[in-house]
Formats: sequence, structure tokens, C-alpha cells
Amino acid sequence: MTKFSERVEEVSISGIREVFEAAGEDAINLGLGQPDFAAPAHAREAAAAAIREGLADGYTENKGMESLREAVADKHARDQGVDVDPADVIATAGGSEALHIVMEAHLDPGDEVLIPDPGFVSYDALTRLAGGTPVPVPLRDDLTLDPAAVEAAITDDTAAFVLNSPGNPTGAVSPPEDVREFARIADDHDVLCISDEVYEYTVFDGEFRSPLEFADRDNVVVVNSASKLYSMTGWRLGWVTAAPDRIERMLRVHQYAQACAAAPSQFAAEAALTGPQDLVTEMTDSFRRRRDLVVEGLCDIGLDVPTPGGAFYCMPEVPEGFVDECLERGVIVVPGEAFGEGGRGKARLSYATDEASLEEALEIMADAYDAVT
Ligand code: PLP
Repeated sequence: MTKFSERVEEVSISGIREVFEAAGEDAINLGLGQPDFAAPAHAREAAAAAIREGLADGYTENKGMESLREAVADKHARDQGVDVDPADVIATAGGSEALHIVMEAHLDPGDEVLIPDPGFVSYDALTRLAGGTPVPVPLRDDLTLDPAAVEAAITDDTAAFVLNSPGNPTGAVSPPEDVREFARIADDHDVLCISDEVYEYTVFDGEFRSPLEFADRDNVVVVNSASKLYSMTGWRLGWVTAAPDRIERMLRVHQYAQACAAAPSQFAAEAALTGPQDLVTEMTDSFRRRRDLVVEGLCDIGLDVPTPGGAFYCMPEVPEGFVDECLERGVIVVPGEAFGEGGRGKARLSYATDEASLEEALEIMADAYDAVT
């Protein structure tokens, strides 16, 4: 008889795919978690040149090319004013693999990881796959993670907590004073703060701060990736920044699972990090406009929605049957419970879609709302 691991039996394929598959082909898709921009031309060209010149045919260092890791270290200096040794960076297959190696390297059975609820689907699944226990921490009404709630949930078994600001599925941005608190909590309780910063560059209100600026370096692992920073989801290139001991343990997992991140993607990500940053401004301006359009539209419909300060998602409260009614009428939105119990009664909308489609989707959502209320 075929046998599977208990760990893998504990997780299932993300419910988000099923929603896409249920919708018609010409549905307006507000379910996608990727920017609708082209990757920077200089990033594409750097990869193309490396391929043409035969520079990307072999393995790189397991940790990734020195020049890419230097670019990540320079980014930390530029954006956070934090001094990072390039040796303390591992280039990974996207933020997804970065999260995977963090969990694999740190968790034993019985170890708890506090995760935002609702939160990005991988936190729960990767914690379980690593043998740990996810402990959901309900968000505040404004959908930010409450430092007091995290601190109250810490037990002797807590190995780590996840901070994701700006957040998926909420778009919420933690204020700097909260980020400082998270850093203090990590230090005081000696628990690891896993800071998932993949939406770092998409902030409209407030400012992005990293716990790396405030906490003891040993207590923070930063996960980031070119996916959302530079609209490069298909390149599968992320990284993790951490203290040397942690990097050494994570490298053991990365080395055996991946050997190294794909070389052409490493060239592309290095160029994105070191080249002109115009795309970042362009995307943020565009997402801000769309955020305003969508939030205003949802409020006009009569839906309650905290105004998201970043990323490209919002999470309105929706009446029973709303998500299915939208699907029937050709608008894909994701049911909030796909992101945890705390998402029940809500839906996640991604506004990484052109404004004309967003306007059309809002009209359809207004009809869907009328039909179910
Ligand atoms: N973290 C968050 C919060 C995300 O939303 C995503 C993707 O949606 C990831 C990490 C993983 O991104 P990637 O593996 O494309 O870099």
C-alpha cells in the first residue's frame, strides 16, 4: 500500500487554485497575487546576456553568487541602514523556498510558530511540513498584527512568530512602533521573528520598517524576494538574511534540496537590485490609484473594508454567498477562510489588474451584493 508521511497528509493544496478553476475563462481575476507589470528590462537583459555568454550554465555557490549577495547586503544598507555581511544571505527559489528553509532549519515536533490569522497560506503549511505546530494569532480590526496578542500567545514551546507587513491577504502595514515592539518581544522572549518583507516596496500610507533595524540580529530572519519587489514572480528568486549560525543551518537544507537558485535568475535579480528603481515608483503609484478606486468602490457598495496601507490586496467583510455570487457573475475573489479561520466572513481582492477591469468588477460586485442581501 502506498504510504505518505503524516506531515504531508496534514496539508492540502491551496484552495486558491480551486477558485480559479471554478471560474469561466473570461472572468475578471481579482484572485491573483502577482503584479501585472513587466520585469525591469535591465533585469531581463542581464539574464539574457549571462545566458548568451555562457555564464549561467553551471552551479553557482550554494548560497548564491557573491555579487548577488552583495547586492542584497547593499539593499539592506540603502533601505534599512543596516550593515549586513553578504555571507549572511542565501539566494533561494523565491520567498517560498526562503520560508521553507527557515521552518525546516528551526522546528522540531512540538515547536509552535505564531502566525497571523488571516495570513499567507504558506506559513501554516510550511510549519506543519517541518513538523511544527502553527498557532494562529487573530488580527486587530484594522487587520494589523497586534504585538500584545503575539506576546500573550508565547509559551515555552514557541519557536518563532511571523510578521508580514505589508501583509497578504490584508494589505495592512504595521506602524513603526509595532515593529519596534515585535523586535523587543523577539529579544525579551528569545523567540525568532520571521519577517516576511516581500511587499516591502509597496507602501502607500505610513512607512515600511524592518525588525532587523531594532532587534538583536540573532533574533530576526528576513525573507524577501524579487517576485513582488520587481514584478518577477516567474523568475523564482528570493533570499533570506539571518545571523551566521542560522544561515549555516538553513544552508544545509537549501544545499540538499536546491543546490543553488537558478543562475539566470540570480543575474536578473542582481540587476534588478542594483539598477534603476523606476519600476518600484511606477508600480507603487499605480497600486495606490487602484487601491483608492477599489476601496471607494467597495464602500459605495456598502462593504466594510479597512483601507490597506500597502501591497495590492484588500479584505472587505462580505455577506454570506457573496464570493460564489461573484464567481457566477464572472469576478474571481478568494474566500477569506482560505487564509485561516480569521478570514471567515471576508474576501481577499487583489487589485493587480488594470483599472478598466477593476471598474467593471466593481459594478459586477455591486450586483452580486444586491443579489445576496
Ligand atoms: N510571502 C508572501 C506574504 C506572499 O504573498 C508570497 C507570494 O504570494 C510569498 C511570500 C512567496 O513569494 P515568492 O515565492 O513568489 O517569492
